[in-house]
Amino acid sequence: MTENEHRVLVLGAGYTGMLAAIRLAHRTRRARVRVTLVNPSARFTERLRMHQVAAGQRLADHRIPDLLAGTGIQFVQGTVTALDPDRSTVTVDDRTTLGYDSLVYALGSSTDTSRVPGAGTHAFTLDAPQVAARFAARLRDVAAAGGAVTVCGGGLTGIEAATEIAEAHPGLDVTLISLGEPGAMMGERARAYLYRAFDRLGVTVRTGRGVTKVLPDAVELDGGELVPSQLCLWTTGVRVPTLAADAGIAVDEGGRIVVDATLRSVSHPNIHAIGDAAAVRQAWGPIHGTCQSGMPTAQHTADTVARLLRGRPARPFRFGYVHQPVSLGRRDAVIQFTHADDTPRRLYLKGRAAVRYKDFVSGSPITTYRLSRRVNVTATLSRGGRATRRAAADDRGTPLGA
Ligand SMILES: Cc1cc2nc3c(=O)[nH]c(=O)nc-3n(C[C@H](O)[C@H](O)[C@H](O)COP(=O)(O)OP(=O)(O)OC[C@H]3O[C@@H](n4cnc5c(N)ncnc54)[C@H](O)[C@@H]3O)c2cc1C
Repeated sequence: MTENEHRVLVLGAGYTGMLAAIRLAHRTRRARVRVTLVNPSARFTERLRMHQVAAGQRLADHRIPDLLAGTGIQFVQGTVTALDPDRSTVTVDDRTTLGYDSLVYALGSSTDTSRVPGAGTHAFTLDAPQVAARFAARLRDVAAAGGAVTVCGGGLTGIEAATEIAEAHPGLDVTLISLGEPGAMMGERARAYLYRAFDRLGVTVRTGRGVTKVLPDAVELDGGELVPSQLCLWTTGVRVPTLAADAGIAVDEGGRIVVDATLRSVSHPNIHAIGDAAAVRQAWGPIHGTCQSGMPTAQHTADTVARLLRGRPARPFRFGYVHQPVSLGRRDAVIQFTHADDTPRRLYLKGRAAVRYKDFVSGSPITTYRLSRRVNVTATLSRGGRATRRAAADDRGTPLGA
């Protein structure tokens, strides 16, 4: 380390950690700042496309060191195993200690398979590309044997997975199981379009009863009914790493770091939390974990650290949702446009135009990283307009070191 150098440590090179690191490195390129990024894999995981991997498609191989080329960011491949906010250090792989002046916590989330017996042992998730690829291999065998597949969870991830699988394997018995109605957050017309896609692709939708057990060849519904399932994909419920809670950082009931209006930890202001691992509130309510909201938190935090280093106050984070983009296989999609609080507007897009829109959205993070190495591009589609303006005016951040 050089004398007087400010050390920024970014934990997690997922969608948000990548953007925070690259944007910050560019914004502070003339300052004495060292940015270090830690991630277990050197390959960037495009979580937005994991359902494509599960259906048997191969994705482009994005190497993190290549995406960071020319930024000066130091990449450390490893898993963070402990965090000590009193000493301002993190431990990587139980053996290497890294110190920091500012920490960006971007460890994301994973699917929670702990709540239903058998889900952890007999179901697959879309968390890791290796697991999704193993699912795809099993899927080919199950399809060839005329078996049945269940997708548990009727959120956007479950919908995308069920339709992708059904399109890739016509005639396969695919059942989407959801307590609530899939697409309930969409407007009436977009939801009707979604249900027509389920019919066309032969996806059976079961709603109203939760899954109580996952067995090797069936899932059990509340009440005891067994739905045949030689292969089960679990997409419902999220959990976050316990590192922050274990370290005594203030977290919410879900283990996410509680942040102030500027996205700094309320208990440790030199820790900035972004993406799925942060509990972020806006005037209209809490943000739920999406790439759409996560990328703006990363952009904001990079700008905040840069501002604080110049002795300027942090600004409040403002965000509003714009859309719910949902692929329905490779040849169809539906995009529900939304108000800032994610409730549906009248406008929606379907068919080929929606496919192109969705493709653009899924590919935009990689484009943003490449551009952010040289210019400050925005990853924020909407700052929420009137829905966030007044609250932001009332809420100003604290200076560095406060
Ligand atoms: C199949 C699927 C489809 C989705 N589709 C959409 C969509 O269409 N639109 C949308 O907005 N959102 C979508 N999402 C949600 C979106 O992917 C997440 O909100 C987003 O990935 C959050 O970004 P993040 O940076 O917080 O976390 P991630 O992108 O998950 O990154 C977290 C990173 O931290 C690393 N990490 C974890 N633990 C450690 C540790 N101990 N040490 C070091 N590194 C660690 C992980 O390996 C990972 O690289 C989808 C999610 C899935 C699973």
